Amino acid sequence: MVACSPVHHGAPRTSTPPPQRAQPATRLSSAPVTARAPAPVDTQAPARPIGWLKGQTHVHTSRSYDASTPPEDVVRFYAEHDYDFVVITDHNRVTAVSAPAGSDLLVFAGAELTQNSSVCKPGPAKGFRCLFHTSAVFADAARDPAGGERFTPSYQVGRFDAYRTQFEYATRTLGGLAILNHPQFHFAANARLIARLAQRGLRHVELFNAALSSQNPNGKANAERSAERLWDAVLSAGGRVFAVAADDAHHFADAVDRRRNGKSAYVGDRAWIEVRARRDADSIRAALNAGDFYATTGPKVTDLKRAFDEYRVAIDANSQPVRIQFVGPGGKVLSETNGVTATHSGGDEPYIRARILAQDGGRAWLQPAWR
Ligand SMILES: [Zn+2]
Ligand SMILES: [Zn+2]
Repeated sequence: MVACSPVHHGAPRTSTPPPQRAQPATRLSSAPVTARAPAPVDTQAPARPIGWLKGQTHVHTSRSYDASTPPEDVVRFYAEHDYDFVVITDHNRVTAVSAPAGSDLLVFAGAELTQNSSVCKPGPAKGFRCLFHTSAVFADAARDPAGGERFTPSYQVGRFDAYRTQFEYATRTLGGLAILNHPQFHFAANARLIARLAQRGLRHVELFNAALSSQNPNGKANAERSAERLWDAVLSAGGRVFAVAADDAHHFADAVDRRRNGKSAYVGDRAWIEVRARRDADSIRAALNAGDFYATTGPKVTDLKRAFDEYRVAIDANSQPVRIQFVGPGGKVLSETNGVTATHSGGDEPYIRARILAQDGGRAWLQPAWR
């Protein structure tokens, strides 16, 4: 299995004109925006229109022990790849950095709360470790007790306790929004654990992690299927969580050298979210909490009505051929359409969700609608 899908890295994802993006009217001034100092709300300004914003919620910089690209270069990469916002998530360290000069990229502070050990309860299967990671996105750098330095989160031996502690640190201490990352990496979190965390307020789980999925020894497609099985199991257990896709990029300019030396390279712009919001932190956070976003490795939605009685999806009419599927508990495909629009009305299932499969291998996962 290749480590990197060329479709999603660097080159344009389709040969067609770019699908609907946030309208130009939604663009703010080009003044740099820092996560440390959000722009004051101007109550006299007209409300900015809502559009689809391309966002990255998981990426590392040289402030992580396993990456070497300076934060300024990382945010420039995402500005150059047409992102509307990016959250920096270094391991156990809050990173706040300004947007590149002349760019209207929104840059938000964050951290990936990381507990790596070989001991936990229940213990890992043979050959696996206990690697529990939760991202705090939209962290308030002013509330960071470590003041931007590396910190050591309080160690918890229990799997659930480790995640609960990370969730509380992300939300209460740092004032951010928590995303449980790559739950299947070393099979860190199962459906029951995630459903328990959902009862405590967890809303977001990383369904697709480009760094790990592309390295899965059983193949990318298998990684995707098993991640979706986990999500459906969480939803069926009553856990109302939304799916996120992210790069978890660690390598940028250094990727070429690493590959030449036979090393893996976790590069950027392979998986992201599209959020229907205004271009400001509060609106993006509200949309994430409401599930008004989708996870994608390429396909772009132009119109979306997420309702159980009438779930409607439309993608760009000029895009490559796609299959739109509506999925229920157990991953059961309830209906599918080959085309650019599809509608489904829920029946007896507790929830329905939608998935887009593009001919080039790109995928998009839309959030559930509950009965
Ligand atoms: Zn991680
Ligand atoms: Zn990471």
